[in-house]
Amino acid sequence: MPIKTTLIAPCGMNCALCLAFQREKNICLGCNGPNKDKSHYCRKCSIKNCEKLARSSSRFCSSSCSSFPCRRLKQLDQRYQNKYGMSMLENLKSIEAKGIRKFVIQEEAKWTCKKCGSLLCVHRESCLNCSGRNKGYPKK
Ligand code: SF4
Ligand code: SF4
Ligand SMILES: [Zn+2]
Repeated sequence: MPIKTTLIAPCGMNCALCLAFQREKNICLGCNGPNKDKSHYCRKCSIKNCEKLARSSSRFCSSSCSSFPCRRLKQLDQRYQNKYGMSMLENLKSIEAKGIRKFVIQEEAKWTCKKCGSLLCVHRESCLNCSGRNKGYPKK
């Protein structure tokens, strides 16, 4: 299934790749979805709830925020780079350069399991459907 552009969060996270979105129980519908369907952590997210973002005409941190990239965003990006081999800041750079539609097409190609064609999960080393390898996941 194609990744919906609304699944890309203001911080650059692709919620379609999140374990909470892909699992079968207690599913989270993504950062831009209703609060009642989010994990506690994401409901309280200081980036999604940032006042500067609320005042901005864009839904992404990278457009029209004078503090971009702020400390919170840099910390989140660093954590994801170290733990999951994925960069929110690179995603935002790509969205700014190519536009959101091209970005999601690129994401689909990048994160499709070569073995079974399902979407990989950024939080797991192996595909949740067939256990094919997520090549971007850092080696332990
Ligand atoms: S838990 Fe957070 S990162 Fe995961 S899908 Fe929900 S909003 Fe997105
Ligand atoms: S980059 Fe700007 S809009 Fe995004 S969380 Fe930081 S201060 Fe808020
Ligand atoms: Zn697979």
